[in-house]
Amino acid sequence: TLSDRLAETFKNLRTKGKLSAADVDGTVREIRRALLDADVALEVVKEFTGKVRERALSDEVNRALNPAQQVVQIVNEELVAILGGQQRRLQFAKNPPTVIMLAGLQGAGKTTLAGKLAKHLAKEGHTPLLVAADLQRPNAVNQLQVVGTQAGVDVFAPEPGNGVGDPVKVAKDAVKHAERTQHDTVIIDTAGRLGVDAELMKQAGNIRKATNPDEVLFVIDAMIGQDAVATAKAFQDGVDFTGVVLSKLDGDARGGAALSVASVTGRPIIFASTGEGLDDFEAFHPDRMASRILDLGDILTLIEQAQTAFDEEEALKVAEKLASESFTLEDFLGQMQQLKGAGSIKKMLGMLPGAGAMRQQLDQFDEKELTRTEAIIQSMTPAERRNHKLLNGSRRLRIARGSGMTVTDVNQLIARFEQAAKMMKTVARGGMPQIPGMGPI
Ligand code: GDP
Ligand code: MG
Repeated sequence: TLSDRLAETFKNLRTKGKLSAADVDGTVREIRRALLDADVALEVVKEFTGKVRERALSDEVNRALNPAQQVVQIVNEELVAILGGQQRRLQFAKNPPTVIMLAGLQGAGKTTLAGKLAKHLAKEGHTPLLVAADLQRPNAVNQLQVVGTQAGVDVFAPEPGNGVGDPVKVAKDAVKHAERTQHDTVIIDTAGRLGVDAELMKQAGNIRKATNPDEVLFVIDAMIGQDAVATAKAFQDGVDFTGVVLSKLDGDARGGAALSVASVTGRPIIFASTGEGLDDFEAFHPDRMASRILDLGDILTLIEQAQTAFDEEEALKVAEKLASESFTLEDFLGQMQQLKGAGSIKKMLGMLPGAGAMRQQLDQFDEKELTRTEAIIQSMTPAERRNHKLLNGSRRLRIARGSGMTVTDVNQLIARFEQAAKMMKTVARGGMPQIPGMGPI
């Protein structure tokens, strides 16, 4: 998966403090591959990775994250932004009825969606009317009537026996009918063709003009793959739409079509259709789709954890202490204990391209060492903990006895502490590296 490949890329970044153009390119290359694997259209991939690269090389900093994590965060943010950022809700007319028109290729899932939407709206207290304006296929009207019965809502259909009806007139009549019969929403199902078709597009455009819908929803099959861009553009030019519904997300499509359509049309995706049943339907969540497209679950979780664990106030406090050179053994112990508290810390540390000396120390960190450190520091008097310079030979011997350690252990701990304090001072002057869950060591 991309997570694995990125983890591999990050490993190569470990020894570097700042991300170079080459590092960014390596990460971006993996992301590009993942997007293409997810069937995002090539033109969209190019534009997207270009933007990510630019941001990743700019000076924006998120101090909770290491540079490699930052690239992933940028990718995720950009994806979510293109996919609409916030969840977009259906817009209702000030003066009912609200008219919702569906458009899309044949088989995209329009009629099924009409039923899902009607059932959903009815549950929310609306009084939807389904309108059969697909007079192209012989069975289409009947299919909508079946769906209407399942959803428990009324269906407006042309009188049978009038020959081939005019879908524009049916749609117009339906809106008038809804006004008379107090239906507050009108859902117009329209015809589709297997491919984009000029006549069909004109018909859909005319239905739109005649009914002036509050929403025109373009329904597109998530499995459509690379054809998504051309199809979406054709519908945008021919009918234009206010929102997108992604259907058949229950299949194994990674959802690249979502990104392609959203990116090319700039229209928000409002719903996701996830099955043949009328309840298989949900509001579209840009963030969930972003991780589905990238297949980035693990890494995003790590980033979230790093963000959460990062306590800016705590870091500032330590930074102040460092600046005033009052970082003590007690602080040192506290830092180590925080490390122990962060369960996934080891995993995160594996991804850190942090400073070399600190990395070495962190790599050597283990729980036993923490136990020994605790024992030794707890055997010190408060005054000793606050000022390690008091620790002469006889005090060290006393501490070693009290903690059940050797004098060598005590010496090593103090040496390590001094090294850490010195390093932190340097780091504090030149900007702090951020370690999730502990601030700088
Ligand atoms: P239309 O031609 O655009 O009206 O498409 P339909 O609503 O008739 O759907 C075409 C086929 O796709 C039908 O067999 C539906 O049951 C099926 N379908 C529609 N939406 C979904 C979905 O979200 N998931 C799955 N698995 N099948 C769907
Ligand atoms: Mg249909």
